Amino acid sequence: MKEEIKNLTDLQAIDLDARKIGERMAAGYGELDQKKAAIVENSKAIEEYKEQLVLGEKRRKELETLIEDEESRIKDRQTKLMNIQTNREYQSILKEIEDTKQANKQRDEELILLLEQAEAIQKRIDDLIKQSEDGETQLLAETKKIETVSAKLEAQKKKIEKTRDAQAKKVNSKYLRRYEMLRERRNGLAMAGVTKGVCLGCNMNIPPQMFNELLREDEMLSCPTCNRMMYHLPEVESEE
Ligand SMILES: [Zn+2]
Repeated sequence: MKEEIKNLTDLQAIDLDARKIGERMAAGYGELDQKKAAIVENSKAIEEYKEQLVLGEKRRKELETLIEDEESRIKDRQTKLMNIQTNREYQSILKEIEDTKQANKQRDEELILLLEQAEAIQKRIDDLIKQSEDGETQLLAETKKIETVSAKLEAQKKKIEKTRDAQAKKVNSKYLRRYEMLRERRNGLAMAGVTKGVCLGCNMNIPPQMFNELLREDEMLSCPTCNRMMYHLPEVESEE
């Protein structure tokens, strides 16, 4: 039984290594995905700012036309002033001219504000474009790096798979089936070490009698709590 347990724990060590490799690959590609998502977000923001620019431009054109029209109206009124008969009419037209000038002044102010806004928006767009370009460059470099690492990991994985197959053949098929089932249901950990009477798979105590049986290594014992196959794992001396 000692041999069986050793074969199983060795198998588990191989499987855990393989899992780590898989996780490292996934993490690498996950980082790339995040970077790609950031670039997509940037593009969306750029599009939104561009829409704001178009709207601002439209409003500016409206204002400019309006200002021009009103200016020619002022000129028209000024010409009219020269042929005025009554003082009342004169005052009325004078007021109209003043009001129009005042309104145009406000339009001018809005125009200046819009120009400043457009400038600020354009600056944000430029910044975002720069960010995106830098992001693309980084992404390209990281992709290459991750592809290189992945190729190495892939090779390691293949090697491990071979070792795994060889190791699995050493295990009694009855235990192998149990191992595979537990591995699936217990998050990759089918074999649990037991240190000082505690199952490290679930951190629960096992009965003292069972612990004694475990030490004898005569039969395959399962944890009464998590059902994992157990093996004795002597306490490691702390380095402190
Ligand atoms: Zn347990």
